[in-house]
Amino acid sequence: MTRQKIVAGNWKMNGSLESISALVDGLLKADQSNSEVVIAPSFPYLSLVSLSTADSSIALAAQNVSNQEKGAFTGEVSVSMLKDFSVKYVLVGHSERRSLYAETDEFIASKVKVLLEAGVTPILCIGETLEQREANQTLVVCEKQLQAVLDLVGVEAFAKMVIAYEPVWAIGTGLSASAEQAQEVHQAIRAFLAKSSETVAKKVQILYGGSVKASTSAELFAMPDVDGALVGGASLDANEFIAIVKAAG
Ligand code: PGA
Repeated sequence: MTRQKIVAGNWKMNGSLESISALVDGLLKADQSNSEVVIAPSFPYLSLVSLSTADSSIALAAQNVSNQEKGAFTGEVSVSMLKDFSVKYVLVGHSERRSLYAETDEFIASKVKVLLEAGVTPILCIGETLEQREANQTLVVCEKQLQAVLDLVGVEAFAKMVIAYEPVWAIGTGLSASAEQAQEVHQAIRAFLAKSSETVAKKVQILYGGSVKASTSAELFAMPDVDGALVGGASLDANEFIAIVKAAG
């Protein structure tokens, strides 16, 4: 099965009106790719980026969403608000949300459910810490994180989701997993899902994230179970990000 590659830029809490406008302009100039290009600005810039990418093939992602529909949830943003700005994807379960904001597997699963019900694609981030990898717990951790979502939404829902394997030790450290390390885990994730549905396991796109840069991305994308990348730091530089997109084909 051929799975389309996705290259997604997670801008995190970075940028200004000026820098984000320039970044989007840079990306629009190179807007032709066989891969799906996705960018995830902070909430205040979604409307601007939504308007400026409307006639392009660049898809918009949000970095977070509430698991509630509406009401007295100060500081939260609902999925229907995101849909007003043509948001197609939402990052869920990023390790920064898990560790800094104490988001649990169950809470993350509830966000996945809200998104799926609204027809928005979750990019479910999973991954182990260095300590867990050294204790040979990588797959145990990833499977536990997946299982909480499986329990709530069922395996068929995974056909409408994207998974991002992001080892915590590789995020923002400059220390990317090797292409072989990524492939090993991606393959195991697919095998885990195949226990519930082989069709879904073959279909689901699994991105790698963690210090992805242009110089190593071709090697990564050559791996049979790596269907693209979730890029943090390197996505803030238009030329670097475009080079990653090109490497994806
Ligand atoms: P990084 O971040 O590319 O800066 O390591 C990846 C991510 O957090 O999604």
